[in-house]
Amino acid sequence: MSAVDSLLRSGPAGAEAVVDAYRDRALPLVEQLAGKGFRDQWEALAGLGVLRLDPPEPEPGAPADAAAPGPVTRSLAMIEGIGLAGVDPGVVYAMASQVFGMEYPLRAALPAAAWQAVARIQDGGELLCHALTERKGGSDPLSMDTRARRDGDGYVLEGAKTFITAAPVADLALVFARTGEGRSPFSLSAFLFPVSTPGVTRAEAFAKTALPGVPMGELVFDGVRLPAGSLVGGEGSGLALLTSTTTWERALLLGYALGPMRRTLRRLTDWASERGHFGRRMGASHQVASRISDMALVLHRSRTLLYGMAARLDAGTPTRRLSVEAALTKISVSEDYVRLTEHATALSGVRAFIADSELPADLHSPMAALTYAGPNDLLRIGVAREFGLPVEN
Ligand SMILES: Cc1cc2nc3c(=O)[nH]c(=O)nc-3n(C[C@H](O)[C@H](O)[C@H](O)COP(=O)(O)OP(=O)(O)OC[C@H]3O[C@@H](n4cnc5c(N)ncnc54)[C@H](O)[C@@H]3O)c2cc1C
Repeated sequence: MSAVDSLLRSGPAGAEAVVDAYRDRALPLVEQLAGKGFRDQWEALAGLGVLRLDPPEPEPGAPADAAAPGPVTRSLAMIEGIGLAGVDPGVVYAMASQVFGMEYPLRAALPAAAWQAVARIQDGGELLCHALTERKGGSDPLSMDTRARRDGDGYVLEGAKTFITAAPVADLALVFARTGEGRSPFSLSAFLFPVSTPGVTRAEAFAKTALPGVPMGELVFDGVRLPAGSLVGGEGSGLALLTSTTTWERALLLGYALGPMRRTLRRLTDWASERGHFGRRMGASHQVASRISDMALVLHRSRTLLYGMAARLDAGTPTRRLSVEAALTKISVSEDYVRLTEHATALSGVRAFIADSELPADLHSPMAALTYAGPNDLLRIGVAREFGLPVEN
């Protein structure tokens, strides 16, 4: 284990063992899956149990593992581990998005039988997407146009959801639609249904520059008849569910970046230690050393924050009490991911811009983190509003 990996172990003890185990399990897959499509990678990684919310049952008679982390911490550690192995960051992002942004909040929101009916998504055979954003924007859900109107026992859905991660390949969609008028907090509802439902079309797929390893697309709804059972929670509870899914995402989605951040720090530390420059090793420069320390600082801070959020959720803290901390975590980790990438790019020189060099930089994916799960500018406004400032978006 490199010094970078052995010194930066700020997660709970049980979590570190899960990170290591999942890194080791994913390592052989990284080679086997090179050049394979998104779906093949998804299924192979899901086969390791990364999407499973509950840990496997202990062997009969086995003593209880006192160091075993809680389920949320374990999920975060599995995501970090596969990222650390070098799995495509787009695939790791999509898995983190499904686990934290959809599976945990849906398990809490759905009656047990309804959750059981979709629980197979944890095995990877079927894939879920979270469809909120519309072509005109995503930050202001109460301005959405997609509408579900009552029709007998069920609903008829009209509209479109755009810029949706995994929409080109998803089997199930969690769709937010208007069931009431205006900007009332009860004007939205959430529906969970198969993308194969008549009237749903997968429209445009976007040539996304960030996280290109996961496809992004659009779903168009033209007279889609939905049974009453597809409604998640009651009619009018869409904004409450959305608050839960986005709090989970803000708290933990950036866990996907821990693996890539650690890999970058390790690569640049090796580079600075070994490269000869100006007649000495590059890392003998105080300025270079300082950039390496700053990279370690932001990685340490990000890990500490993310595992802190996982611990709060494992302790059963309701998401409604975590909205500010989740927003602050998302802002901090995304901006630290950008900062770490900036240091790495500076230290890499021209190699950062050569795709097949030893130090290529992915500049788009860290920058995208400033936007998804709530643009940081708008999250800052929300935090200040919670503190009582008279500030609106
Ligand atoms: C990689 C990626 C994956 C995504 N996956 C999904 C997905 O799976 N499902 C989904 O529904 N959506 C997804 N999205 C879309 C995402 O949710 C939206 O991009 C996000 O909600 C922001 O909406 P917007 O892009 O329209 O930004 P805008 O709302 O237009 O905001 C952009 C910027 O405008 C400025 N701004 C605008 N209004 C104000 C204001 N009142 N005060 C201050 N500043 C303001 C801020 O600087 C802000 O950062 C994804 C996006 C990305 C990048």
